[in-house]
Amino acid sequence: MLIDTHAHLEMPEFEADLPRIIQRAEEAGVHTIMTVGTDPASCRKTLEISEAYPNIFAIIGVHPHNVAEVNEKDLDALKKVAQHEKVKAWGEVGLDFYRNLSPPAIQQEKFRQQIMIAKEMKLPLVIHSRSATQETITCLQEEGAREVGGVIHCFSGDQKTAASYLEMGFVISIPGVITFTKADGLRKVVGGLPLDRIILETDAPFLAPVPHRGKRNEPAYVRFTAEAIAQIRRLDITEVANITTTNARKVFRLDNDRRD
Ligand SMILES: [Zn+2]
Ligand SMILES: [Zn+2]
Repeated sequence: MLIDTHAHLEMPEFEADLPRIIQRAEEAGVHTIMTVGTDPASCRKTLEISEAYPNIFAIIGVHPHNVAEVNEKDLDALKKVAQHEKVKAWGEVGLDFYRNLSPPAIQQEKFRQQIMIAKEMKLPLVIHSRSATQETITCLQEEGAREVGGVIHCFSGDQKTAASYLEMGFVISIPGVITFTKADGLRKVVGGLPLDRIILETDAPFLAPVPHRGKRNEPAYVRFTAEAIAQIRRLDITEVANITTTNARKVFRLDNDRRD
């Protein structure tokens, strides 16, 4: 049993065949999917999808690419959406200084604000960080993100960066990138991570693992990431599945009805 802890099922790429995608995931042993909104409209769609399937849960928040488009009213409305029992985390939020689709100063301001919202809502955070490691760590530390913890999604940093996040109580989410030929650095870091702090994700429709690289990604493919980790850690894939599923259920509190 595997969990894809980060997919964007609400994106247009899945509009035509979502039920089939979800069925294919189940056939591949991926029984639980966390689907992630990136702006107010996609967050609402994400919640709708999670309401239609018992084992799909929603993560809502405003992506750093989109923060320049939202105002206080939008965030207040999202907080109301987040009270729904199928919403299990606040994200993906963070900093993306690689693409800078929103101005960096606004990204930092809205990131800090959304860390505070997660604390207020008692939800774990799902963090997106690209070309902004030091700033991400500073924001998380200064805003007291440790109080709720959460997930560093699509992790691509070095050992020292991983150690900083682990120290703040976060778990590290490994994407299909780990199957890429050039990912020796990431494989080395994953070789040294504590097993009880690793979870798996696809980031579908993006970042399809080998042997589907370059095509549309989907939750069923999280299995290739599990296989890569099994090889690195010299474990059976069943063990990797059990460990990462337990970790994911714990960080998203999937076995709790209430938020305390
Ligand atoms: Zn992301
Ligand atoms: Zn994402």
